[in-house]
Amino acid sequence: MPRPIEALIHIPALAHNLARARACAPDAKVWAVVKANAYGHGIANAFEGLRAADGFALLDLDEAKVLRELGWRGPILLLEGCFEMRDLELCSRLKLWHAVHCEQQIDWLAMHKTHEPHRVFLKLNSGMNRLGFTPSAFRAAWNRLNALPQVDEISLMTHFSDADSERLGADGIAHQLEAFEAVAADLPGERSLSNSAAILRHSARVRSDWVRAGIMSYGGIPDFPEHDQAFWDLRPAMTLRSKLIATQQLQPGDTVGYGSSFTADKAMRIGIVACGYADGYPRHAGSGTPVLVDGRRTATVGRVSMDMLAVDLDGQPEAGFGSEVTLWGQGPRGSVLPIDEVARAAGTIGYELMCAPTRRVPVTAL
Ligand code: PLP
Repeated sequence: MPRPIEALIHIPALAHNLARARACAPDAKVWAVVKANAYGHGIANAFEGLRAADGFALLDLDEAKVLRELGWRGPILLLEGCFEMRDLELCSRLKLWHAVHCEQQIDWLAMHKTHEPHRVFLKLNSGMNRLGFTPSAFRAAWNRLNALPQVDEISLMTHFSDADSERLGADGIAHQLEAFEAVAADLPGERSLSNSAAILRHSARVRSDWVRAGIMSYGGIPDFPEHDQAFWDLRPAMTLRSKLIATQQLQPGDTVGYGSSFTADKAMRIGIVACGYADGYPRHAGSGTPVLVDGRRTATVGRVSMDMLAVDLDGQPEAGFGSEVTLWGQGPRGSVLPIDEVARAAGTIGYELMCAPTRRVPVTAL
């Protein structure tokens, strides 16, 4: 018997979530963002569920190659562009569009001998201060690119840092939108601005010819503690599930796990789940992190160890050896445990958990 842990990828959920992105931004084309192995879901699985997208956006050339091998002939955008000059060769060969965010990348284009003209997305640093030309350098960069025979189309892009901030509301994007409009207003070319948070919350305000749907494609929500997946009508595309491999009866004063961080204050039963931090479950999920046992909500007790964690079985006398445990995602009989809730309890975000399942967790696409 293999160890009873697995990740399930729900292909219909991916298709549903993509349709939600379209519904929120009906005038835009949608990049399905599939970087980082499709946020941990697998490029091939993501392609199957998201093939109705207008394009795929990612970072790694290897992942772009996989998409071409899977038969995708449409647009692929390298969100951070080329990391070295020889990447341009592959961009030409695989017909990849690429972001240009610094002078070095323009220098490489200028030196590149190509018969295939490049389509580039010139990136503005509108306030995130990671990648992109500053507003004062943007026009000169555009002029440089426009003069290159190697470039046949220039689109414009930027990335929001606070589109998910409820505290800031519309102000979360206001200063960046203003900076973008100030430099882009009289420049031709398509524009790409919105990530999931902006698609969900700010589509009425942002003119984005291409939106970039990452986390929402996978049924995760950006960092909006006040609304859940059900509110946004998003479906979990990943389930991490396991089983109970033991139960223990505790007496008052008994402790659980390394460091004895949990002490029973009454007689109670706990279950031991075949899932630990070596499977990608967050070690920082302390006592009280939500879990489903046989589709019913309970919580973890004690520290997460490498291969196991413990859950409270009080109120579930029928649960025992072999009971199904949903760590996040879709449980039995229509039950759901949003990944974002688990992430919050562990002091992280759903993005990190999706990318976390390790190699020893077998993945099945449904
Ligand atoms: N666009 C860029 C440039 C990104 O780096 C990312 C992801 O971080 C996205 C879009 C997608 O963001 P999200 O997953 O929040 O939709």
